[in-house]
Amino acid sequence: MTNTPKTPLPRVSSDEMGALLHLRGQSLNKGDPLSLPLVGTSAYHLPGRPDGSAAYGRADNPTWDHLEQMLAHLEQAPVVSFPSGMAAISAALFATLKAGDRLLIPADGYYITRRLCERFLAPLGVMVVERPTPVFATDGFDGFDVVFIESPSNPGLDMVDIAAVAALVRGAGGITIADNTTLTPLGQRPLDLGVDIVVASDTKAMGGHSDLLMGHVASRRDDLIEAMREWRTLSGSIPGPQTAWLLHRGMETLDVRYDRMCRSAQILAERLAELPDGPAVRYPGLVGDPAHALSMAQCRRTGFLMSLTFDTEARAEHFIDSCPLIRPATSFGSVHTSAERRARWGDDVPAGFVRVSVGIEPVEELWAAFAQAVG
Ligand SMILES: *Cc1c(COP(=O)(O)O)cnc(C)c1O
Repeated sequence: MTNTPKTPLPRVSSDEMGALLHLRGQSLNKGDPLSLPLVGTSAYHLPGRPDGSAAYGRADNPTWDHLEQMLAHLEQAPVVSFPSGMAAISAALFATLKAGDRLLIPADGYYITRRLCERFLAPLGVMVVERPTPVFATDGFDGFDVVFIESPSNPGLDMVDIAAVAALVRGAGGITIADNTTLTPLGQRPLDLGVDIVVASDTKAMGGHSDLLMGHVASRRDDLIEAMREWRTLSGSIPGPQTAWLLHRGMETLDVRYDRMCRSAQILAERLAELPDGPAVRYPGLVGDPAHALSMAQCRRTGFLMSLTFDTEARAEHFIDSCPLIRPATSFGSVHTSAERRARWGDDVPAGFVRVSVGIEPVEELWAAFAQAVG
């Protein structure tokens, strides 16, 4: 078998990634360090009257500024960073909703987002409605103030037509928020498809090494970005400069990691799908996958996540435990391939459903390990 995926996919131009690596370099003066300075300070030198210069560490930090510049380059939009994906999601929801508003969220999306809405937004007077991703647009969006989408959904990997949803929601006077964690800006640009706010957990592929939690929001609407920045300053939901520095460092290799992960995932998914007694495979890059057509239409890459559904829980656990190149873990997007049976958290999936996050291991080594463990 060859290493060439059957479906070549469009990808971010190398200019864009080259520019990303040299963003900071463009503004350096003679004698400045090439690497990003890590500034840990709560206070700034501030004699006389405040004039808008940096004053206090809850509102300003130069290490965040550089990280946000890098993220903004990828999103092609202003960005505010947060100490986790959930902190970013909270900022987007609390900055856009008020008592009496109606919020639509996916019934099959990230579980903690649903819990946040149920546990804290509903008691404040927000009416929270859930719909499954595959039929998300069926009943339209009239009467919703905010529509939150996750495409592909985690863990099912179903997609919605993002441009169509964003246009309908806008037509009905609402705001669309898209959780773009699973594909990253290299794989999908929801803002280009008309979404108002992108939220993401940078804990996953953006950081990429399972050693930090971070998140960000992006929006081309000044009023929304300002509201989310104000939420960060007032709620105190701020990233630590050390963690921001580490994410900046990790993102310098995002393109090579992500490219390897997506290519390997395509190859593994194709081979697994051809096994006579293998698990059922869901991967947007597979011709015939329910999300394939939408994925080709609206995504730049098909990602590094796939699901394998084994006929029993025991076979699924055996696959995870016996594969030497799989770490059993509940996160994804790391350099190490990882997997878990999602039903162990109560997700509405079969007992033998395994979410696999493909890492950067050489693909033939991975395939040999997978083929043996599936067997
Ligand atoms: C992990 C994840 C989050 C939450 O991010 P944290 O960094 O863990 O707070 C939100 N949405 C999706 C789709 C995720 O996978």
